[in-house]
Amino acid sequence: MTVAVLPMNIQDSFVAPETPPKLEVFTERHLERIEQLNRLDEQTRFEMKVVASVLPFRVNRYVIDHLINWENVPDDPIFALTFPQRDMLEPEMFEQMAQLHRDQAPKAEIQALAWKLRHQLNPHPAGQMELNLPMVDGKVVEGVQHKYRETALFFPSQGQTCHSYCTFCFRWAQFVGDKDLKIASKEADKLLAYLAEHPNITDLLMTGGDPMVMKTKHLAPYLEGMLAPKLAHLQTIRIGTKALSFWPYRFVTDPDADELLDWFTRLTDSGKHVAVMAHINHYREMQTPVFREAVRRIRATGAEIRTQSPLIKHINDDAAVWEKMWREQVRLGMIPYYMFVERDTGAKYRFEVPLARAYEIYRDAIRKVSGLARTARGPSMSAGPGKVEIQGVAEVHGEKVFVLRFIQGRNPEWAQRPFFARYSETATWLHELTPAFGEKRFFFEDEFEQMKRSRGLAMLDTAEVGA
Ligand SMILES: *Cc1c(COP(=O)(O)O)cnc(C)c1O
Repeated sequence: MTVAVLPMNIQDSFVAPETPPKLEVFTERHLERIEQLNRLDEQTRFEMKVVASVLPFRVNRYVIDHLINWENVPDDPIFALTFPQRDMLEPEMFEQMAQLHRDQAPKAEIQALAWKLRHQLNPHPAGQMELNLPMVDGKVVEGVQHKYRETALFFPSQGQTCHSYCTFCFRWAQFVGDKDLKIASKEADKLLAYLAEHPNITDLLMTGGDPMVMKTKHLAPYLEGMLAPKLAHLQTIRIGTKALSFWPYRFVTDPDADELLDWFTRLTDSGKHVAVMAHINHYREMQTPVFREAVRRIRATGAEIRTQSPLIKHINDDAAVWEKMWREQVRLGMIPYYMFVERDTGAKYRFEVPLARAYEIYRDAIRKVSGLARTARGPSMSAGPGKVEIQGVAEVHGEKVFVLRFIQGRNPEWAQRPFFARYSETATWLHELTPAFGEKRFFFEDEFEQMKRSRGLAMLDTAEVGA
C-alpha cells in the first residue's frame, strides 16, 4: 500500500504535471476502493458506511493523497473534515441505521429511514427556506436568497455539489438527493432581473455547493451579465468556494482554468471587485505547492481572496491552529474574514463547540497575530435574526455576561447594536442564550416574531415551505 508523504515541504514550488490531474471522487458506494482505509479496523469502516447512508459523503483523490496524514488517522483534522465518523449521529439514530445494515435490509428501507432521520437534523437552519426567498412579479426567484439588504446569495443549479464534502457542512441537505430540500436556480436571466430591480444590492455572493465545480462556460453567462450597465450598482462579486483547498487545480491546470481567470480579470478591469471567499478550516489545507500556485494566480487577476471557516470540534478547536492559519493567510496575501460558530444542524452532535469556548479560542488566536490578521470577525452565529458576534465576556454589577452585537441584522437597524446575554458555559447557539439583567426578551425578538409571521403567511401559498 502506498501512503502519501505528508505534510509536503512548504518550500516546494509548484511544478506543473505533464498531464493535468483529473478529479477522481469517491462516495459511500466506493469506500472499499479507498486503499488507505484498509488500515482502519472493520468496525470503523462499518460505522462510516452507516453514517454515510444518512449524511452526504464525497472525497477526492487529491484530498486523500495530499491533505490527509494517514499516519495520524483518525485524529488527523483533514480526515475528520472529510470522512464520516460514528458520533456525527446521535447514538439512537446511529443504532437504528446500523441495525438495518446489520440485517442487510433492502435499499428502499435504508433510504426511507435516512429520509426520516435527515428531517430530524434541522436540515434548513435559520429559516433559510421560509424567510429568504425573493420575488419578481409575485413569483419566487429560484436559487436566490436575499436576507441582508446589500448582499444577495445565489445558488447556481450546476454548482450544487463540491469537489469533496465537509463532514460538518450546514448545507448538507442540498447534497442528499431530497429534491424538496434543495435551493437551486435554473437560469441566469431571472437572477439578473432580480439584481437589476434592486439597486440596494451591491454584493452578489455566488455560493452552493461550490460554484467552482462549474465549467467556466457555464459560469460565463452569469459573469457576462454582471458587466451590463443596468447592474452598475453591483460592485462586488463574491464567489464562495472550497476549491482552493479541495481542488486547487481548478485555478491552475484544469482545461478551463485560464478561461476562468480571464473572467476574473475582465471583471476587475471593468471596475468590479471580485472576492474569492475561500473556505479554509485548517492551515494544513494551505501547504501544498498547488494551493500556493492557485492563490498566486487568482491574485494576479486583481481578485482578492478572503477566508472564512467555522470553528469545529475535532478539526480546529484550538487557538494555535487559527493563529497559524491566519498568519499564513496574510503571508500569502489572503484576508481573514469570518470565524463562524458551527450551525445548529446536521452533524452538530459531533462538531459543536460551546460559545464560551469559541470566544476564548478566537480571543487567544487574535491576540497573537498582527493587525492585518485581525480583520477576522467572530465568533459569529448566522442565526435567523442575523449574524450575531460574541464580542466578549464581561461582568456588570456582579453579573457575568456575554457582550454580543449584530454584524448583520434582518432589520439593518440592528447592526452594530450591542446587547447582553447571561453567561453560559454550555450554550452553543443563540436560542440557548437568555437576556442578561433580568430582561424578558432580547431587543430584537418581538420584531423578528412579527417578521416571521407576516413573511411566513405570505410565502405559504407561493413557495414550497421547507420542513
Ligand atoms: C453572511 C451572509 C451574507 C453576507 O454578509 P456580510 O456580512 O456582508 O459578509 C449575506 N447573506 C447571508 C444569508 C449571510 O448569511
